[in-house]
Amino acid sequence: SLAGAREALDRLVRDVPDYPEAGVVFKDITPLLADHAGLAAVVAGLAEAGRDAAGRPVVDVVVGMEARGFILGAPVALALGAGFVPVRKAGKLPRETHAVSYDLEYGSATLEMHTDAVPAGSRVLLVDDVLATGGTARATVDLVERCGAEVVGVAVLMDLAFLPWRETLGDVAVTTLMSVG
Ligand code: AMP
Repeated sequence: SLAGAREALDRLVRDVPDYPEAGVVFKDITPLLADHAGLAAVVAGLAEAGRDAAGRPVVDVVVGMEARGFILGAPVALALGAGFVPVRKAGKLPRETHAVSYDLEYGSATLEMHTDAVPAGSRVLLVDDVLATGGTARATVDLVERCGAEVVGVAVLMDLAFLPWRETLGDVAVTTLMSVG
């Protein structure tokens, strides 16, 4: 249940002030991942974003963003009867990739996906742990669309409500199990 997932997030995600730099409160999900009931609850909650009102899966592929999107996205894919595709930081994938760069507070970052990973016409759910500025999710939407596939939505454990992810993501559907801040 959504209530169960929220209870697990409340109890098992640790706030780490000033990590990795002053002023940032890092959401450490490792205690949640270590708890079977908590992990099961949040995976079930994320997978709801890939089902229709009757509970039928509506996605062909789950895309997870490095690195915590890998851990959460793979079991969500299994729950939906879908495959899993990783989006990685620059230079990690061995074959031909699509690449999208986006601005960070200081500098920029590049994400990559194999060009043949997501078939054209696929329906895709994006999975990550935290939505902050939305830059990571926006770049991943762009990568999926480069493949000619359709983003059904973005599913995250938590969004940071004081950051402008909604503006960054435009009309992309977002499912968040918990808003914080
Ligand atoms: P953004 O691109 O700004 O939306 O940031 C989202 C990405 O950075 C996700 O992959 C998160 O894992 C990570 N992230 C951003 N802010 C936090 C935070 N406060 N705690 C944990 N992870 C974060």
